[in-house]
Amino acid sequence: MMPPRLSWLISATAALAVSMPVMSSSLAASEEVNLYSARQESLIKPLLEDFTKETGIEVRLLTGKADSLLQRLRQEGRNSPADVLITVDAARLHQAQEADVLQAVESDVLRENVPERYRDPEGMWFGLSSRARPILYHKDRVDPDELSTYEALTDEQWEDRICIRSSSNVYNQSLVAAMVATEGAEAAQDWATGIVDNMARPPQGGDRDQIRAVADGVCDIAIANTYYLGLMLDGEDDDREVAEQIGVFWPNEDGRGTHVNISGAGVTANAPNRDNAIRLLEFLSSTEAQEWYAEVNQEYPIRDDVPASDILQGFGEFKADDIELYRLGNHNAEAVRIMDRARWR
Ligand code: FE
Repeated sequence: MMPPRLSWLISATAALAVSMPVMSSSLAASEEVNLYSARQESLIKPLLEDFTKETGIEVRLLTGKADSLLQRLRQEGRNSPADVLITVDAARLHQAQEADVLQAVESDVLRENVPERYRDPEGMWFGLSSRARPILYHKDRVDPDELSTYEALTDEQWEDRICIRSSSNVYNQSLVAAMVATEGAEAAQDWATGIVDNMARPPQGGDRDQIRAVADGVCDIAIANTYYLGLMLDGEDDDREVAEQIGVFWPNEDGRGTHVNISGAGVTANAPNRDNAIRLLEFLSSTEAQEWYAEVNQEYPIRDDVPASDILQGFGEFKADDIELYRLGNHNAEAVRIMDRARWR
């Protein structure tokens, strides 16, 4: 129970804020929002500073690995100081939702800014940036005319020529989950088995390592997220030299399109600063924030009215799989089983 004097203080303060606009900036300075982010600090800090400048709300940022942040939220339970969780991949957002650490949010701004397929239908989470997972190929050793679909990569022609990371990685789990949702479990199983047959080496490393392996001649084809290639092209000389050898092929153009996923955020179940949390999410979906994401992290804005970076535009236009991303989480467990059965390490 709140002591009566404290509740009086709060309502008096609220009244002051309305009747004395001069006071509002100093009052706002005591406002805060606590953010748990699975994205590294450099990928979000400048945006948070802009948010504070614009709203007077201080942001306290805690960064960590996606799984440990979720674990922490679970353990803290009702006592968690967190207001917002930011993480990557719809499967992880779904996981957080299933763990009951998020709450539903009603916001016209978010509904307007975030396309339906990039948010949870109940408002438990919202996409903030998107990334595609197309086929990457070595420009000298592969003619793009030989490429067509993800499925066609299981043809004999590609035996010992494909690099892709481990099945423990959520990006591949979601890629297979999308296949389960649209093509069915049997087709997804055939695909996973066929890809394992055509791997040039047992899965190792992250997406960047697959891109480097293509450049090094270990393999001719990789499947990886677009921002890794974009960041390499935008990076140091060594990285750029590698990335310039790589072409982007948009698969399944005549079918469901290229697999796309998101980074996203939700308001935590017991957010002490719920209103500020919603304001932060709304800010992150604003034109200004979306432009920043596109330029700094080479991700696609979730909004059609914000252009992608020049580098991403250089990869060409493509058809994105328009599956509602909340469905991926439902198929995650099956996707993992399918990859296990295929002995995809
Ligand atoms: Fe990543």
